[in-house]
Amino acid sequence: MAALAAAAPMPVFPGSCLVYSLLSPVYSRGRATRCLSPHHPLSSIFSLAAWVLTAAACAHPSSPAPTLQLARLETDYTALRSLRDTLDITRARGLAQTPSGESLPSGDHRFLAARSAVAQQLAAIGTAHLRTSDRAALTTLSRTLATDLAGNPDAAEPPDRHTSCATTDAPSALAPGDTAAANAYRRHIYDCFGRAATAVPAGNDTVDRLTILGRLAETPDAAERKRLFFALAPMWRTVNGDDGARSPYRALLLFGAGQDPETNPSPLDRASDIGVGPAMLERWLVAILDAWRTATPDSAVEPWDYYYLAAAADRQLAPRIPRDSLLALTTRYYQTLGADVPALGVHYDLAPHPGKTPVANTTFGSRGHEADGHWIPSESWVFATYETGGLGNLDELVHETGHAIHLAAIHERPEYVDWPDSDPLTEAIADIPALSVYEPAWQYHFLGDSVSTPVATRAKYASIMLDIAWALFEVRLHDHPDADPNEVWAAITSRYLHIAPHPEWSWWAMRGQLIDAPGYMMNYALGAVIVTAIRERIAAVHGPFATGDPSWYPWLSAHLLQFGLAQSPRDVLDELLGGPLTDGPLLRDLGRMRPASAAR
Ligand SMILES: [Zn+2]
Repeated sequence: MAALAAAAPMPVFPGSCLVYSLLSPVYSRGRATRCLSPHHPLSSIFSLAAWVLTAAACAHPSSPAPTLQLARLETDYTALRSLRDTLDITRARGLAQTPSGESLPSGDHRFLAARSAVAQQLAAIGTAHLRTSDRAALTTLSRTLATDLAGNPDAAEPPDRHTSCATTDAPSALAPGDTAAANAYRRHIYDCFGRAATAVPAGNDTVDRLTILGRLAETPDAAERKRLFFALAPMWRTVNGDDGARSPYRALLLFGAGQDPETNPSPLDRASDIGVGPAMLERWLVAILDAWRTATPDSAVEPWDYYYLAAAADRQLAPRIPRDSLLALTTRYYQTLGADVPALGVHYDLAPHPGKTPVANTTFGSRGHEADGHWIPSESWVFATYETGGLGNLDELVHETGHAIHLAAIHERPEYVDWPDSDPLTEAIADIPALSVYEPAWQYHFLGDSVSTPVATRAKYASIMLDIAWALFEVRLHDHPDADPNEVWAAITSRYLHIAPHPEWSWWAMRGQLIDAPGYMMNYALGAVIVTAIRERIAAVHGPFATGDPSWYPWLSAHLLQFGLAQSPRDVLDELLGGPLTDGPLLRDLGRMRPASAAR
């Protein structure tokens, strides 16, 4: 891992003082440049002026350098975070030892000692003599110590009293206020869901949930599709039982309803961080779903047919995307965007193993930091499991790799070498490159074949519409936690997606996020709005990139990826877009599905 990091190309920025001054509002109170094209004549003037001003500030003897204490604390903090990353990755990979051969208990012990030392260093610093920017950074550090770095990574969680996945094990009610018990129950249901999602019976075989959904897309016989779809029913039951009032999901919903709004915010509140009010966001969700409704034929289809109809592009292109090509295609694509994935310290865990989480995800492997005057970028790990290839899985792997190159681009002081995880902008960033796989130009360039624009657009948005439907589903249930989730789902999907209503089935229970991270689906919905706005903006101010652009990654790093926690998502987005976020770009893009007859 270290060797890969050392081999990574140095970022384009000349030195830490200049970098912080130019790029961090904490240091400079605003970026020196707005989102000007590098070819814009003002761009070079602004850059030169900023360089002169910043160089003067750095050299000025009255500019206070961070204290030795602070520098030592930041170094130790980076080491602490990297140690925690290593332990987390080791666990996620199902291993007992870290790459250096240390056992997990030993690493945990060392982590706790290091954490305690960092906390002591933090308490010993006299902040009165620090700059405002340093104090702000220490506030972030302190918050991270209390949250992401809290406690023992392997600490015993409250005992799970629910040892069986039979829904008869569900409690009639979770005791009000007993958050620990509710969280333990939530983990139990998620674990049951994960086990069911990776052990779906299919003939004489056992496959995972994504494989079944993939087969729906390629099975021409409707009766066989229906049979495949119902192979998922045991998975639905782990979440919602028989849809009775005592179902696990409904018990958790009612528990959440009794919670303080601070600890149980509406999914719509996720957008407030980027300046989108709840009312506006709900209007967007409905407007987008309505645009899909009017762009697609109004005859009702069965849920298993929805997947098939959406997959015309997948079926045509699947022979060109075998499973073994997923990673090679992904890295080749990023290479043409100027992102050398292996050199950026991106690692992959794509093989199935016991206990592996059923949800694809990406996280830090180590934290970027200065060493001997050079910047060593963060490393990352991508976790996913693929039984097959195909366009959908390729999209997901490109998306996860989008997260990974985001982490590699973060170039900030130690307190800010992090991302706003579980954040709509973060999800949108990963989709900026990923959505290109649905562009006919991209397909022809990288796969040697392409589908029509309406067919490609339907393929792109069919799963996004389901995500938006799930987001609206969570909003509706947050507002009415005693409602029947099957009824709510049937109402949304029949109205907007033209899917025949089946309130007798809990077929909505197919996303782990609904259990593990309530409200998270909103990230995908809002992310879709953000990503289409960003993609449209990049094409306008920097140029199209569907068939590659070696300046894309450096440009995007400078304008979007590098800030970590140093800037708010709202500031970053406002500056990049040059105006307020709207649903206009997404609605415009959806318009490419017409004529509807061609998409069907
Ligand atoms: Zn993601």
